Amino acid sequence: MSHEALLSVRDLRVAFGPVEAVRGLSFDVREREVFALVGESGAGKSLTARALLGMVPRGATTGGGVRLRGSADLAAERGRRITLVPQDALSALSPVHPVGDQLAAAVRSVRGLSRGRARALAVAALDRVGIPDAARRARAYPHEYSGGMRQRAVIAMATVNEPDVVVADEPTTALDEERREQVLRVLAEQREAVGAALVLVTHDLEVVREHADRVLVMYAGRAAELGPVRQVLGRPRAPYTAGLLASLPQDGPRLRRLPALPGSPPAPGALGPGCAFAPRCPLATGPCHDREPEARAVDDRLVACHHADDLSDPLREFA
Ligand code: SF4
Repeated sequence: MSHEALLSVRDLRVAFGPVEAVRGLSFDVREREVFALVGESGAGKSLTARALLGMVPRGATTGGGVRLRGSADLAAERGRRITLVPQDALSALSPVHPVGDQLAAAVRSVRGLSRGRARALAVAALDRVGIPDAARRARAYPHEYSGGMRQRAVIAMATVNEPDVVVADEPTTALDEERREQVLRVLAEQREAVGAALVLVTHDLEVVREHADRVLVMYAGRAAELGPVRQVLGRPRAPYTAGLLASLPQDGPRLRRLPALPGSPPAPGALGPGCAFAPRCPLATGPCHDREPEARAVDDRLVACHHADDLSDPLREFA
């Protein structure tokens, strides 16, 4: 696998008025990898995903930026080289056009093919994601599809033009357990088939463990820990990652959402000068309340914690 950066995010800052919701985030997404963005609600991960797609309102990006193969015009690349699988499939599909027509229109707008050829590609794409009797179903409207089928149609839409990156924002939240697995499998297959990288925004650590190569754990608009999934989830070095893992149940049904750690994340705009996690962190010491930690390299990962070097197993602190 090439380690060349496909998407490059540098010191990204997104603010709404005085409230900074993404606070200096840097990471790369590599060719064909599955890169997970994980964190509690309000961590800024969906906003980061929107920034990757050039969907943040003009003026809200107050610093840094995103480049896709060197291009900073993400809005122009959206739908072509970078595509979205949103949480709510209905929002991605027009209710007034048959699904096949919508897919064919997406193909024509990007590739300029004939109507007949675009139609054939649309039906083939629906067939590939497991829509039964795809030629007939292509003529149906989104409301005639089940929830799982709609989400698969949206995956077909997001991959039909063979993009470089697919961004999936909580793609299975609205589905039941069985359909979640199905949709994630289809997403993984299609990503593989078109050779795209996948940015997977999720609350679900099990999904990260099963599907992602690398993970960025976000807290209060910043990176707490970034690195290979096996390292970060196998042996976390940031207390926040450790706290998330420690609150997973050891047995019983698999956890589908992040559990609540004691306390709650700070409201954006209500941050003090120190580490944003300090009020909830059992390892906090004096400097944690005074200065925000910078990310630094530990093994193959980056960890933003003043005590990253002296804590070999922060998980123990949450036992
Ligand atoms: S910097 Fe301090 S408060 Fe923040 S995570 Fe590390 S130990 Fe906890």
